[in-house]
Amino acid sequence: MAGFLDARPRVGYFYTGKNSERQVIDNIRNILVKDYYSHPVVVHENSSVYDAIVIMFTEDVGTIFVVDENSTLTGVVSRKDLLRASIGKQELNSLPVAIIMTRMPNVTYCFKEEVLVDVGCKLMNREIDALPVVEKTENGLLVIGRVSKTNITRAFVDLSNNRDGIVEE
Ligand code: ADP
Repeated sequence: MAGFLDARPRVGYFYTGKNSERQVIDNIRNILVKDYYSHPVVVHENSSVYDAIVIMFTEDVGTIFVVDENSTLTGVVSRKDLLRASIGKQELNSLPVAIIMTRMPNVTYCFKEEVLVDVGCKLMNREIDALPVVEKTENGLLVIGRVSKTNITRAFVDLSNNRDGIVEE
């Protein structure tokens, strides 16, 4: 009876007043980014486009976050960014990823404590596949994770199976 009944000392069980629709919304909004985010795949801003392509392929992700020497966020590169660079006549080994990335402050990011479905809204509204999870530091935004459409799909599948969220190690 999760959510429909609650218990209090000396009162016993009582009806919470929530209908099933309200309860479904509450359950969805109880899922936070920290329950489902993955480890980020990052490259240094001086890395070449060629290296970014190799990392994207070997790490099996569609989005790579670009960081400086403090691991703080400077940009993001997606599959299409790398494809666009590859069909040009540029030398990919000597082209820094910083030249082709979407750079700060235009990167959409989120925090660990945000509601996961709100991050889903950001992905839809901005028409992007993933965003970095960050922590504020004195140097900037430290990249600590990644939320992609896959993480959000996993959360909804778990919800329908009535399982708890698991942070991917
Ligand atoms: P794909 O290139 O595989 O279609 P996206 O739709 O995620 O992947 O990326 C589309 C564009 O949006 C790219 O130019 C990329 O740099 C940019 N982009 C991707 N993720 C973000 C983000 N979190 N914040 C801002 N821009 C992003």
